[in-house]
Amino acid sequence: MDDCIFCKIRDGEMDTEFIYEDDQLMVFADINAQAPVHLLVVPKEHIPSILDVEDYNLVGRVHQVAVELAEERELEDGFRIVNNCGPEGGQTVNHLHFHLLGGRQLQWPPG
Ligand code: 5GP
Repeated sequence: MDDCIFCKIRDGEMDTEFIYEDDQLMVFADINAQAPVHLLVVPKEHIPSILDVEDYNLVGRVHQVAVELAEERELEDGFRIVNNCGPEGGQTVNHLHFHLLGGRQLQWPPG
């Protein structure tokens, strides 16, 4: 997708540092962090939202990597993995991604 910011990041057009990368996934810091730890775990393939996922093994792998990163960051007191889907879900980038948030007391319910 030509106009997709996460595709541009994947393709090295944005000078974004990858915290983790494999064949399927890339992880980088959110540009507008909402917590001391705020990482984005992003499938490299341009999948617009979770509604478009065909292979749910990918979603499992996203969670595995997110949990490993949470452990690495010593978020033993807790953390949150979030996927926003669609306009009412608060999705602003239409390329599937999961937020890993931690390092402070998170509130519930979210806004
Ligand atoms: P959403 O609102 O779609 O769930 O999450 C999109 C996230 O992407 C937002 O938290 C936003 O701050 C982040 N974001 C948007 N553009 C960029 C960018 O160019 N670089 C990085 N690292 N994060 C971005």
